[in-house]
Amino acid sequence: MIEEDVPLHFEHLLYRDDRKMNLVAYSIKTKGAHNFARRLGTVFTRFGFSETPTRRTLRALVDTLQYYHAAPTFFIPAVVLRRHPELIAEIAHSGAEIGVHGYVHNDYRSLNKQEQHEQTSRAITIFQKTHIPYQGFRNPYLGWTEESLQVFSILGFAYESNEAVIHDVIDVENLSPLIRSGYEKSLALFQAIPCNTYTLRPHFEGSLLRMPTSIPDDEMLFDRLRVTNPEEVGHIWSRVMQRIYDLGGLYTLNLHPERGILCKKALEILLSFADNRPRPVWIARLGDIAQWWKERSRFRLHITPLGSNHWQVEAVCTARALLLARHISVEDQPSTPWTDKEMSISSRSFTVTATKCPCIALSPRTPQQVEDFLLEQGYPTARATEEEAQEFALYLDMAEGLGNTRQEQMRLRSQLVEQIEHLEAPLLHFGCWPDGNHAALAISGDIDSVTVQDFFLRIIEVYQSK
Ligand SMILES: [Zn+2]
Repeated sequence: MIEEDVPLHFEHLLYRDDRKMNLVAYSIKTKGAHNFARRLGTVFTRFGFSETPTRRTLRALVDTLQYYHAAPTFFIPAVVLRRHPELIAEIAHSGAEIGVHGYVHNDYRSLNKQEQHEQTSRAITIFQKTHIPYQGFRNPYLGWTEESLQVFSILGFAYESNEAVIHDVIDVENLSPLIRSGYEKSLALFQAIPCNTYTLRPHFEGSLLRMPTSIPDDEMLFDRLRVTNPEEVGHIWSRVMQRIYDLGGLYTLNLHPERGILCKKALEILLSFADNRPRPVWIARLGDIAQWWKERSRFRLHITPLGSNHWQVEAVCTARALLLARHISVEDQPSTPWTDKEMSISSRSFTVTATKCPCIALSPRTPQQVEDFLLEQGYPTARATEEEAQEFALYLDMAEGLGNTRQEQMRLRSQLVEQIEHLEAPLLHFGCWPDGNHAALAISGDIDSVTVQDFFLRIIEVYQSK
């Protein structure tokens, strides 16, 4: 029998403001005070006094991914890195990417911008002193704020991975009221956003790339929902993979290496499932995906009319780009079936026949922001007047742009991407992933503690950092 797995986030006890106290209260209440002592026991089953058990687990995760010619991304608080620089260097040399998981393991929502800046700078200093290269930041508890995004940009991070996309793979109706309430509070803690084609794609906010992560993660399943069978967890993650595959998005799985063997078995099921999809899934580190998205953001399609439903197309892109087309015929170059609806074209210069110009036209009063958004999403654009609207695959007149509040922006952007993806009209565009891949999968893990000592120091460190 597998021992019940329980959350180990005691440092939340230290938060003094009301909102954080509620989060702490739920952590205690959902499990009951009598479980508290047993939770302490769990610490000793998950961690050792030496680095050995954690080293074994990290290596096992690296080896599991190596079989698929891939590697994981681990995020670690800087103070934990400072105590275990050789171990982390060893894991980095084995191919894993290391990212920053705070200076200490605290919730940035309890810090103001200046405090966030100070703590992030201190974390960077430790990464530099220990010679561990980094590109990305993931907040403890995925606790990002608008200020965090500004701080990450100022301090030069390539990406962050905090936006939590929730997948509807849990039958919430059949949960006991207590477990259901704990699960729903987890969603609130993680500031969960809905799943759709747009939210599953990375996107730039200024120079900072935001990479979605997907939940439920290992903690929600093992701890909150008490799904203790690794095979069941593996099947739930596979269901998430299928949904993301259907939308051609990025699945960032977040797991905690401290759950060791439970996670390894579930991970093997997920990786085998991803590897067996009809079209390939790119299993990659978050840093590689961030580099790719930057490379892809510079791709452009130049479409020049040749008269009577003919266009000359020049694709400005790298060899890794996937160029897709629907409802058009390519005259002078080969094309390969891709999905039911689309084909892929390997040539970068060709002539097409179509009933309309295969790009998205924008009215003169539609702001540049909309055009930039469409280009980042891989769709070619043109400017046109309302009289010319019928000549294009789609004509957009969005004088108001893409919304003001973050929520409105997400809604409008999601709607627009959905509309274009379902468009039954001639269209050329770039696929999301390189080298003929249909979707992407990143296995990431948060190394919150390496040893028992780290676990208890975590509580003191969070307290001292305030
Ligand atoms: Zn963490």
